[in-house]
Amino acid sequence: MHNFAAKNLNIPLFYSRYLLKDGDRLKEIFYSLGLRGCNITVPHKESAFLACDEIDISARDIKAINTIFYKDSKLYGYNTDGDGFFQSLNEHKEHSSFLILGAGGSAKSIAISLKRRGKRVVIGNRSKEKLKFFGDLGFETSTYDELKNRDFDVVVNSTSAGLQDENLPCEIKLLKELFKNAKFIYDIIYGKETPFLKMAKEFEKECSDGRDMLIYQGVLAFMIFTENQFLEDDVKRLFFRAMEL
Ligand code: NDP
Repeated sequence: MHNFAAKNLNIPLFYSRYLLKDGDRLKEIFYSLGLRGCNITVPHKESAFLACDEIDISARDIKAINTIFYKDSKLYGYNTDGDGFFQSLNEHKEHSSFLILGAGGSAKSIAISLKRRGKRVVIGNRSKEKLKFFGDLGFETSTYDELKNRDFDVVVNSTSAGLQDENLPCEIKLLKELFKNAKFIYDIIYGKETPFLKMAKEFEKECSDGRDMLIYQGVLAFMIFTENQFLEDDVKRLFFRAMEL
C-alpha cells in the first residue's frame, strides 16, 4: 500500500519489512538502518513507546506505538490503530453506543479513540485481568456473564477468537442477544470470514471485517511519514487501489 502510493505520488519513499527480535534494541536498529519512519506491530508496540522521545496524544494513554517518524533529531511516536478503526466506520460513525469484545492492545486503541469522540463504550472480556486498564481510565467494563440483556448500536470483536481457529469470542447465546438489536457488527480480524462474522451475516446485519481498518491505519501512517503534504482522500484512494491489486 505504501509503495504503491509513493510510486503514484512520485516520491522517494520505500517501505519494507524488518524482523525485530529484541524490542529493547528498536531505537538502535532504527538509526543503524537509517530509517525516516516505521510501523511497529505485535509484540513490540510497548517497546516502541519507550523508544520514542515525543509521544502523540493518540498513543499517550495506550502506552503503545505503531508508527514512528524521525524529525529534528527526535523520534515521534503515534498510534494510528484507533483512528484507523474510527475512519473505517464510514456512515456508522454516527452510532452512539459501542461494545468492544476483548481487552488487548487493539481494544485499547479503539476504545480510547471512540471515547475521545464522545461515544459510550463498554469493554467486555472473558477474564478480568486485562479489564483493569480500562477501568482505571474510566471505562465501563464487564465480564461476559454480566453482559446479558444489554443493547449496543455497534458490537466489535477485537479478540483473536476466530483468527487461527473456529471459535466465537463468547457463548453463542450471549452473541444472539447482543446481535438482536445491534445496528452494525464489526470484526477487526481480516483475511478470513470468522465464525463471528458468519453469524452476523446469518442475522442479516450490516457488518465489516478488519480490512478497512488495516487500510486506514496505513493511510494515517503515510500522512505522518509524508508530513501531510498530500490530501488524505488521494492517499486513501491509492491505498484502496493497492489492496485490490
Ligand atoms: P491481544 O493479544 O492484545 O488481545 C487478545 C484479546 O482477545 C484478549 O482480550 C483475550 O482475552 C481475547 N481472546 C483471545 N482468544 C480468545 C478466545 N478464544 N475467546 C475469547 N477471547 C479471546 O491481541 P490484539 O488486541 O493485538 O489483536 C486482536 C485481534 O485483532 C487479532 O486477531 C489481530 O489480528 C486483530 N487486529 C486487526 C487490526 C486491523 O488493522 N484490522 C489491527 C490490530 C489487530 P484474555 O484477556 O482473556 O486472554
